[in-house]
Amino acid sequence: MAYDTNNIFARILRGELPKIAVYEDDLTLAFMDIMPAVEGHTLVIPKEAAETILDLSPEGAAATIRTTQKVAAAVKKALGVPGIMLAQLNGTAAGQSVPHLHFHILPRAHGLEMNFHGRKMVDAKVLMPVAEKIRAAL
Ligand code: AMP
Repeated sequence: MAYDTNNIFARILRGELPKIAVYEDDLTLAFMDIMPAVEGHTLVIPKEAAETILDLSPEGAAATIRTTQKVAAAVKKALGVPGIMLAQLNGTAAGQSVPHLHFHILPRAHGLEMNFHGRKMVDAKVLMPVAEKIRAAL
């Protein structure tokens, strides 16, 4: 299927929708998930127009995993959790809801309950201090 240039993350990349960014470079962007499954839930996307991992160039894939590794380390340190879960869904059949490739970075701890997909929008005022902690840990 053709890439939808008006998907939410394409619009975030163009600056048409707000984001709470924690990291950005020439090829990638990391920002807070607006409906976090758990505190510290962060997303990493390539700037390249790619719907799934199968559409991404090898260079885009390398850059995206590099940023995911870097930001995952910062999320782990900032949230003080022992575990980090990464998730990346390809296609609606796999549960992908935004058709622009993204990695989920999810802090995990024993006994910390989590629904993989968040259901409740969280106010920017709540997300901003968490983002600040992650940025400080980069
Ligand atoms: P997926 O189901 O893997 O496609 O995940 C999409 C994720 O994007 C979900 O966890 C949503 O909460 C998140 N999301 C949707 N819209 C926004 C937005 N405007 N800003 C940040 N995260 C978003």
